[in-house]
Amino acid sequence: MPHQPITVSGVEVTPLCDAVGPMGAAIRRPLAEMFPGSGLPDEPWVLHFHCYLLRAAAGRLTLVDTGIGGADSPASSWAPVPGTLFGELAAVGVTPAEIDTVVLTHLHSDHASGVVLDGGPAFANARYVLQQAELDAAQGQALDRLVTPIKGQLHVVEGQAEVAPGVHVHLAPGHTPGHQIVRVGDVAVTGDLVLHPVQLDDPGVRYLYDDDQEAAARTRAEVLGALRAERAILATAHFSEPFLRL
Ligand SMILES: [Zn+2]
Ligand SMILES: [Zn+2]
Repeated sequence: MPHQPITVSGVEVTPLCDAVGPMGAAIRRPLAEMFPGSGLPDEPWVLHFHCYLLRAAAGRLTLVDTGIGGADSPASSWAPVPGTLFGELAAVGVTPAEIDTVVLTHLHSDHASGVVLDGGPAFANARYVLQQAELDAAQGQALDRLVTPIKGQLHVVEGQAEVAPGVHVHLAPGHTPGHQIVRVGDVAVTGDLVLHPVQLDDPGVRYLYDDDQEAAARTRAEVLGALRAERAILATAHFSEPFLRL
């Protein structure tokens, strides 16, 4: 079931819980190894996988991230597929064809695999917002199975952009080269800027699967610092509780 929504600046923000589970054996590591030096225990990490629906008063619908995808998705080797994104959307009365804008925080397979369904765009009438740097770095399955099928609907941005009324994206690189976060009112949908709450206390705590751990830590410190100064509400991808006010 979707988590409880909140409303900010006239936009309802609903966390859609695509999946909950540990990573598959291929890349699973205890928390202590995922976040080296964090002091976290030698225990398994059970993640939530959240996408976010932004519903503006005017009826405009924006989806942030598309989850782990179906049984045969590029995430199937390591994530608890199939994801339940489409059931989550149905539970809040939304059909995929009604989505106007899809923002992809980045192209990792647990955030972007739901862009396709049966080889075509899952959200037939949507623009898919992606940072230029993320597109430039795309290769392999991310390029062939996720980007290529939505090529005709891509809306490529660089840095900061307003992608729907009141909805802004900001480049926040490090986890991937073109990783972006989304702002709407007080809310920041943070993608994989932070993976675990331990990084809120110490943004310097590295994550094993950041593409560039140093850049990711730098970006995390900078962005979290700015968000903390305005007491923003984080909407996280992988925490058990989706919302958290800094
Ligand atoms: Zn959840
Ligand atoms: Zn990621």
